[in-house]
Amino acid sequence: MLITLATSNKNKVDEINLIAKDYDIEFILPKGEFDPVEDGKDFIENAYCKAKCASLNGTTELYLADDSGLCVEALDGAPGIYSARYAKTPKERIEKLLDNLKGVEKRDAKFVCAMVITDKKGNIVYKTQGECIGSILKQEKGTGGFGYDPIFFVKSENKGMAELTKEQKAKVSHRAKALNNVLKFLKDEIIK
Ligand code: IMP
Repeated sequence: MLITLATSNKNKVDEINLIAKDYDIEFILPKGEFDPVEDGKDFIENAYCKAKCASLNGTTELYLADDSGLCVEALDGAPGIYSARYAKTPKERIEKLLDNLKGVEKRDAKFVCAMVITDKKGNIVYKTQGECIGSILKQEKGTGGFGYDPIFFVKSENKGMAELTKEQKAKVSHRAKALNNVLKFLKDEIIK
């Protein structure tokens, strides 16, 4: 079964196909132009904007989209859906977050990943959210991962996210949790 993944990021398609390799599903890039307006008020709404946009020119029956970010309790959930736009570069985003948490001891945070599946008319078929619970470190630790990984401490692993191997991150990340829910839904309800 072919499913369009609502992204222009080929790496995301490869990563998801790798996790889904034991299923009879192949995720493919959107056909034609893919330029969604993400004006939702939460992760699920933004994922829906992407899935719906991909379905407009699509050729498959189903469309999967994800939207993720980092939510910090002491900052009322910021940067949240604005994680990618919090500052210009990944380095500046980390610096801004550490600055905003200067002197704050309670640093609880979570990564969130929403995934939405729509049909070719843009109707929601399934939605889910995966979370990875932890806290914000006082300084960067580790060299792996991307984005906010160097300042995120993963509670379940007792390690920084950037200290985990790719395989370890693929087991505990917000994205892996959401994707596993999606794959279970597809296996139980669609492929059967
Ligand atoms: P996207 O919705 O997957 O493109 O993620 C939006 C933004 O959230 C990214 O640009 C990163 O800043 C942040 N983010 C999402 N997932 C991760 C992660 O696994 N590690 C670090 N940062 C992440």
